[in-house]
Amino acid sequence: MNDLEDEEEDNKRENKNQISGDEELEPQAGTMAASAAATDGVAAAALRSVVQRVQQAADRAGRAPDRIRIVAVSKTKPVSLIRQVYEAGHRFFGENYVQEIVEKAPQLPEDIEWHFIGNLQSNKVKPLLAGVPNLAMVESVDDKKIADRLDRMVGTMGRKPLKVLVQVNTSGEESKSGVEPSGCVELVKHVSQECPNLEFCGLMTIGMLDYTSTPENFKTLANCRSEVCRSIGIPEEQCELSMGMSGDFELAVEMGSNNVRIGSTIFGPREYLKKN
Ligand SMILES: *Cc1c(COP(=O)(O)O)cnc(C)c1O
Repeated sequence: MNDLEDEEEDNKRENKNQISGDEELEPQAGTMAASAAATDGVAAAALRSVVQRVQQAADRAGRAPDRIRIVAVSKTKPVSLIRQVYEAGHRFFGENYVQEIVEKAPQLPEDIEWHFIGNLQSNKVKPLLAGVPNLAMVESVDDKKIADRLDRMVGTMGRKPLKVLVQVNTSGEESKSGVEPSGCVELVKHVSQECPNLEFCGLMTIGMLDYTSTPENFKTLANCRSEVCRSIGIPEEQCELSMGMSGDFELAVEMGSNNVRIGSTIFGPREYLKKN
């Protein structure tokens, strides 16, 4: 946000400089504007390349590409860059911090389908739902408490049922995010039977703690789906798998992913400490 404002300030200054004919500050300001424009073009091109790679992976696996959604993960990236990807025709975007999504969403078109993919705390449920009317899905429900909180708040606010995924810890490592595979049936049952304002849509995994994944992680998630579908009596097509990120989305698609979450391959590497 602040970077964007700074950039706009620079552009204003640049224009003033042009009018006054002051050449002194010109090159630096001009370079910044030009490099931002180039980055924007790169993001749109990167999106197209990801779409193509997803299609090719789907072809290899004999799967229908329209069963695979690409969520462009825009965390830490400015609204201007998100808009470029939007203007390239993309509508699915993901964020993992409540504070960030509630700041960005109102500045962007309402037909974006936002996916919340981060760790969600109970006290952030209300600001999330209130701040993002076009929130399409919460992918990261990992315990009963957060499911109940979401369910109650959706009901209180009179929103239509909210699509959710249950996040599964497939790494076998100690981790705060994601239910253990052995607990996933119980949590899914809770969501689908006790939470009338939530629509259970499937399972999500990040993979390993370092945000990479292995074929075993994908297999574990697929096994969870089989168990879940058997136990609540739904066909597997009604239970999405959200798996695959920049480094491994093609493999994830070949292994049955319905929802890949792609950040750095579309938007470029994240720069958490850009400010200051
Ligand atoms: C950041 C993030 C991603 C995207 O990661 P990349 O490797 O940049 O594609 C996907 N899923 C979750 C939950 C994330 O937090």
